[in-house]
Amino acid sequence: MRKKNFSVKSTTRPERVFLKTSETGLRDKCGIFGIYGKGVDVARISFFGLYSLQHRGQEGAGITVTNGKNLKSVKGLGLVSSVFNEEKINSLKGFAAIGHTRYSTTGGNKLCNVQPVVLNLKDEDFALAHNGNIINAMDLAREIPLNIKLSSTSDTEIMGWIIKNYEGRNWEDKILASFNKFQGAFSMISLTKNKIIAFRDTFGFRPLVLGQLNDSYVVCSETCALDTVGAKFIREVAPGEIIVIDEKGVHTVGKVQSIKKRFCLFEFVYLARPDSIFDKQLVHQVRQRSGEILAHESPIGADMVVAVPDSGTSAAIGYSKASGIPYGEVLIKNRYIGRTFIQPEQNIREMGVRIKFNPLKEIVKGKRIIIVDDSIVRGTTIKKIVKMLKNCGAKKVHIRVCSPPVTDPCYFGIDTPDKKQLIASHMKSKEIRKFIGADSLAYLSLKGLKKASRIKSNKLCDSCFTGKYPMPVKGGFRKDVFETIV
Ligand code: AMP
Repeated sequence: MRKKNFSVKSTTRPERVFLKTSETGLRDKCGIFGIYGKGVDVARISFFGLYSLQHRGQEGAGITVTNGKNLKSVKGLGLVSSVFNEEKINSLKGFAAIGHTRYSTTGGNKLCNVQPVVLNLKDEDFALAHNGNIINAMDLAREIPLNIKLSSTSDTEIMGWIIKNYEGRNWEDKILASFNKFQGAFSMISLTKNKIIAFRDTFGFRPLVLGQLNDSYVVCSETCALDTVGAKFIREVAPGEIIVIDEKGVHTVGKVQSIKKRFCLFEFVYLARPDSIFDKQLVHQVRQRSGEILAHESPIGADMVVAVPDSGTSAAIGYSKASGIPYGEVLIKNRYIGRTFIQPEQNIREMGVRIKFNPLKEIVKGKRIIIVDDSIVRGTTIKKIVKMLKNCGAKKVHIRVCSPPVTDPCYFGIDTPDKKQLIASHMKSKEIRKFIGADSLAYLSLKGLKKASRIKSNKLCDSCFTGKYPMPVKGGFRKDVFETIV
């Protein structure tokens, strides 16, 4: 299989222009969902599937369906519940659907970037829902003929056009032929007019699971979405695997050799829902074990163990169990605050923490408290929480973090901030303790976290904690850094 012969680079012809944007924020986890089932309300099931993947992205959502002739989409900015209503769901009629929840960049939070990305190609429309990040996207963009106007600033659309321009009898052939062009992370669900094609990069950075709902098949980011729609878990889509779901059922149409497997360790730390299962490991139990290990690694006397809800809850239960110190609630979370309302600018983000958590002053007063959280990224959240608890009269505030220090940015689908904004990249633990105003601070060791995951150490991506990337990333494209591809 060869790439079609369109011109690639020339010194004389104009090139696409890339504009640099400000480097900000935490974002882009993304949840993806797809269902194939004749006689089934695929749009409604996708809506519920996306609802249960809302934690992976709150800034935009979309569903695309096929009726066998053409694709139709509804997309919008905001939460799944605000993008869709009865009328919109009813307008999406078909037998297969794919959907996406997006956690986008600051400037990138535009309707044009809400997925599924659809390539309108007359009778062969092609839609893509992507979780991940293609690090060579800008090089690939230069390979797309200039007469093709990109409708978004996303690496996903670039991927779509590269696939489209490969030769092949059908879309799955094209995907297989172009597979090795794409460097980075991609768990992808695509839709043509008559089938779903799902595929996962050879490292398996981001999750992708397959399930069955009566005679329908579902493919999505996490098993919690299978549970929500009542589907039975079948298996994970293997790294490097391409599957087709069509009228004949599910079949593997290609396997690209996976030399290194590197599932994202941060999925266990923070990204995934506690009720999801990856590699036979229930995320809640991994987090609970990590809390237990942390209690053994960094014990301290206190009156109570509390969690930063909800991300630290499972780990705090584990810390309490292993330390024998009672678990209690001290921070009441306002669960109606979507991330949509928390703008990434630092001053507003700080206010966001106060809106999100309210301490139980009467319980905090005079107590020695251990606060367990999943991670410290910039240090903003935990600094505010320590201050709040001290203001309420806490005698001691000890911070226990159930992951190692986040020192390096992710290039594989979590756009953690630029290295200089990661507090642990330029401060030692002692300095961070001082900065956040805690009486003590301890992080879980990398060894401890990996042990808690029960997955072989060399099958996990730990680059945000080590700076050791499983592939070269120098000069790599990150969605947060480049805003516009013209
Ligand atoms: P920070 O204030 O920057 O230190 O934020 C740390 C908190 O953000 C942690 O307690 C996590 O619960 C949460 N967090 C960690 N990673 C991410 C991410 N990629 N996107 C959004 N929130 C995150």
